[in-house]
Amino acid sequence: ASGSIQLPSTNPATSTMAMKITTGTSELRDITKMERIGVHSHIRGLGLDERLEPRETSQGLVGQAKARKAAGMILKMVQEGRIAGRAMLFAGPPSTGKTAIAMGMAQSLGPDVPFTIITASEVFSLSMSKTEALTQAFRRSIGVRIKEESEIIEGEVVEIQIDRSLTGHDLAAVSLHRAIIDVNYATKTGKLTIKTTDMETIYDLGTKMIDALTKEKVLAGDVILIDKTSGKITKLGRSFARSRDYDAMGADTKFVATPEGEIQKRKEVVHTVSLHEIDVINSRTQGFLALFAGDTGEIKPELRNQINGKVGEWREEGKAEIVPGVLFIDEVHMLDVECFSFLNRALEQDLAPLVIMASNRGMARIRGTKFRSPHGLPVDLLDRVLIVSTRPYVDEEIRQIISIRCQEEDVQLTPEATDVLTSMALQTTLRYALNLISCAQVCAKKRKAEEVDVEDLKRAYTYFMDEKRSVQWLKEQQGVLMFDEMDAMEVFCH
Ligand code: ATP
Repeated sequence: ASGSIQLPSTNPATSTMAMKITTGTSELRDITKMERIGVHSHIRGLGLDERLEPRETSQGLVGQAKARKAAGMILKMVQEGRIAGRAMLFAGPPSTGKTAIAMGMAQSLGPDVPFTIITASEVFSLSMSKTEALTQAFRRSIGVRIKEESEIIEGEVVEIQIDRSLTGHDLAAVSLHRAIIDVNYATKTGKLTIKTTDMETIYDLGTKMIDALTKEKVLAGDVILIDKTSGKITKLGRSFARSRDYDAMGADTKFVATPEGEIQKRKEVVHTVSLHEIDVINSRTQGFLALFAGDTGEIKPELRNQINGKVGEWREEGKAEIVPGVLFIDEVHMLDVECFSFLNRALEQDLAPLVIMASNRGMARIRGTKFRSPHGLPVDLLDRVLIVSTRPYVDEEIRQIISIRCQEEDVQLTPEATDVLTSMALQTTLRYALNLISCAQVCAKKRKAEEVDVEDLKRAYTYFMDEKRSVQWLKEQQGVLMFDEMDAMEVFCH
């Protein structure tokens, strides 16, 4: 039966240049992640030199040298493919850059190395068991790099074919975060068609692309750039194909419209899908549409075994390579003892990604038990984890982070305001201070000032409470709010 596993790229009839497009609908369940990405959008890497030594401030990261270096070492092991079944834990107080460093790692990995982010509490859902949710997260974090020879059929006019009767190839090309639509360079002239689809998002994108191709008057030999998010097409012209920039472009973003009639060349096309994507497209009950809804439901273990077997065969035949990626579990102390025991076992399996966990807890109760343990993790799991600690920042580091964030958010602070915000961060938290930047900018704009000054910060500070003031306020309001239990509040805050 394993012969029936859909292979993500076997359709020789279609010339296949895979194009990845982010669709709006597929990201419904990832709203929290998108926010996070915003918060860390200034981070472009780990900021290490060739010897893996951290530069003081680089690629958006400031200080935290030891943790960054440790992250760099682990990253190197990931890149060399030497990391099956490893786990690491970033432990440290809130706002000390645990997530930021993990983001830096994600940025430094190659574009086809999967990096999955979950928050531990996401595992508890009504639609699937905890272990299924974790299994899916694991399998999302393992890529299968599939190689195939493909023919680009010549043709001046581009036909975009979006076919709902999807074959294995097309199916695998549809992923949770992106729809990959095949672009066929066909011999037909004058007509651009979309075959069929009732998926609105795809239809929209297809239509947009056709418009763009017509408008841009794409001709034979032209290189076109396709923006994966908007589907926007830019014509770069013929000479661009000989430029260095063209060489540097990823294979999946290169599209060349070619002259009519002949087959231009055979080339190897490589694309990477995750094991989870292969699972879902082969799951008869769910089908590939689940990838768009983000609602995949449970997948049968027998199917996973079949897929593992098939992927093993592809590897032996040289058709596929395994790309072990990274699974980041934030707030890991929110997992319970069953999840921890699952993690212990899953890390031992052949196809395991690198698991990075983060926790800001000290000694804490292991969820689902009455026992306390460091970071709320059972000791047998802790024992197999490389622990990296992060420490609170000093003035100068905070000042640097604030200035990087201001650049990122395109906000100008006066030097005095920078001083004030730095001391606010020291008294409250870094995160609170970073949140105030945009609020203070609104205040500055109201008084038509270009720069954010101390008065704007003060105003924002009075509008928005930090955690300490919020607790104080609750104390003052005693009895007025509903379900107000001061004792519980106090326990919570300590
Ligand atoms: P928590 O335990 O509360 O989840 P955390 O340790 O994961 O906190 P982050 O979310 O990484 O903290 O950091 C808070 C904010 O500060 C983020 O916007 C992050 O990008 C930024 N930040 C933290 N550390 C650094 C750093 N070293 N360089 C640049 N920005 C940083």
